Amino acid sequence: MSTTPITTRSSELYQRALDLLPGGVNSPVRAMRAIGRDPIFVARGEGSTLVDADGNEYVDWVSSWGPLILGHAHPAVIDAIVETAINGTTFGAPTEREIKLAAEVARRIPSVQMLRMTSSGTEATMSAIRLARAVTGREPVLKFAGAYHGHVDGLLAEGGSGLATLGIPASPGVTEAAAEQTVIVPWNDREAVVAATVRHELAAILVEPVPANMGVVPPEDGFLELLRERADHTGALLVFDEVITGFRVASGGAQERFGVLPDLTILGKIIGGGLPAAAFGGASVLMERIAPEGDVYQAGTLSGNPLAMAAGLTTLEALDEAAYERLRSVTRALADGLERAARGAGVSIRVQSVPGLVTPFFTSSPVRDYVGAAGCDLEGYGAWCRALLERGVYPPASQFEAWFPSLAHSDGDVERTVQAAGAAFEEIAAR
Ligand SMILES: *Cc1c(COP(=O)(O)O)cnc(C)c1O
Repeated sequence: MSTTPITTRSSELYQRALDLLPGGVNSPVRAMRAIGRDPIFVARGEGSTLVDADGNEYVDWVSSWGPLILGHAHPAVIDAIVETAINGTTFGAPTEREIKLAAEVARRIPSVQMLRMTSSGTEATMSAIRLARAVTGREPVLKFAGAYHGHVDGLLAEGGSGLATLGIPASPGVTEAAAEQTVIVPWNDREAVVAATVRHELAAILVEPVPANMGVVPPEDGFLELLRERADHTGALLVFDEVITGFRVASGGAQERFGVLPDLTILGKIIGGGLPAAAFGGASVLMERIAPEGDVYQAGTLSGNPLAMAAGLTTLEALDEAAYERLRSVTRALADGLERAARGAGVSIRVQSVPGLVTPFFTSSPVRDYVGAAGCDLEGYGAWCRALLERGVYPPASQFEAWFPSLAHSDGDVERTVQAAGAAFEEIAAR
């Protein structure tokens, strides 16, 4: 029934790209190396559909790795971008839209009173850490193995996302001084957290409150509360990297969903509605340390960019209660469907999810940390992904990434995906 898509044009583009862009891409996971194939070049997207350079259509579960919670080319977002662009794309001066988006973020994210916009999550993380160090007068930062916080020098060690995908434990080019200031602890390991917070005078405990860059590995009961308690007890700041979870797992992010408030919050992806925007924020007393109000320097030519503010604001405006209810149900349908499809083919997988995020782990036991994720059948996941692509489904090309359901995904998209998944599971089980 499935006709293997022809990807000649993608292959040609890839060959050209290889001469000009390292690995043919501008961000590693796009190269699809972890699933053992060449990348698919995209021509356009609409709703939940991705159309490649050869005209093949796919149900897209990558959603640009998170920003596109409304799907591709959402009409209201496109209108907002176009209307804004007509009046100029950047001024290097403040605009009203920055206030509107900041107010909307502060309204939704419980711990944020004041924020600074940046152009990428990496930048926001880097700046939030700088602020935490300034506030505490300390340097070491605790992070969790398998968590990804952008490509900030000191935070690359045991990073998730592309680092996990490529098996890069730490990157050359990072100074020892930067790496030494990072304390790495296994996720969900209470004793290790307590020990690390006793041993090191930490500036910050930096955490993806629902890690999604080693695949989705939710916090065990009480774990985020423990982090809050350890931060309070030791004088470290608790910093939530909600670049993925913000506006996704709940309107107010993981901090709303789990009822644990951080001191600083890092936002990205959805906040820019598909354009480059990110932010970090917290209580005014902390954020007022940022220049020009305070002495902690932070700046950006395109920070608060008008197009990105317009896209972000329009995206947030669409995220009402009904939207979150729909996101929850489409997530559940996908998670249940993938599990059913695997069972039907006699393949053992473990689907882990929170609203808006799903990972089918190729293992039979629950994944509670990075070691568990890394122990999955990565070859199996890769083969299954290749089989999905041949059946018109575009999955994240790595076991260490989440699938991103969006409001554009229909029940039909889920059904089509589950059917393709079943056939793909059978194909790999037969080998
Ligand atoms: C994507 C991501 C980042 C980095 O954001 P960029 O905009 O890619 O720099 C940081 N933290 C988390 C949790 C992310 O998923």
